[in-house]
Amino acid sequence: MGCNIVMLGPPGAGKGTQAGPLAGSRNLPRISTGDILREAVQSKTELGRTAEVTIARGELVSDEVVIGMVRERLAREDTQAGFVLDGFPRTITQAEALDVMLADRASLIVLKITVPAEELLRRLSARRVCGQCSAIFGDGVAGSPCAQCGGPLVQRNDDRESVVRERLEVYARDTEPLTNYYRERQTFAEIDGAQPTNIVRRSVEAAVGRLQGAARRPAANVGASE
Ligand SMILES: [Zn+2]
Repeated sequence: MGCNIVMLGPPGAGKGTQAGPLAGSRNLPRISTGDILREAVQSKTELGRTAEVTIARGELVSDEVVIGMVRERLAREDTQAGFVLDGFPRTITQAEALDVMLADRASLIVLKITVPAEELLRRLSARRVCGQCSAIFGDGVAGSPCAQCGGPLVQRNDDRESVVRERLEVYARDTEPLTNYYRERQTFAEIDGAQPTNIVRRSVEAAVGRLQGAARRPAANVGASE
């Protein structure tokens, strides 16, 4: 039946930080679209070549290509006991396609990590990365030395306040409909991501434990028609 988990949440909510340990504790593969994309490009599959051309042009990879890559990944044997999806779906089209792919598996457990916009802004604006080893620090002063290699800390262009505001707006516009798509399901839970990381971790584990029973019941909540 499997334990099929989707993590939703804006940039800076700690979705990636939570997805790793959650997958690890249950011995499930963590599937991030960034990773599959890199893997597909490296292994030169047909979808990988299409994606490579798109990325090289500076364009966004289409729903169709992303869906194709996730479908290939979920067809692999190691996902039979379940998986933790991080970064997919991002659109209703992707969510509908995912429901079709999983029609004969246990219902999706959907966890949405929420953090107030002002807190996300504070977190992302405070973030510094090492210019030398790329280590990420939640708080740091630009120009001070990296704790790992001594290289200079810098702020990524992506993390500047104006860019962060725009990223959060894009996120809200694109994914609020997604939350509505899942919200009515018995296997949906919202997690308060403004708490300390270890508390969020416990809430995530508790939610999965609580929702697993509902997920095993016959799927009455598949939104797609075929
Ligand atoms: Zn460093």
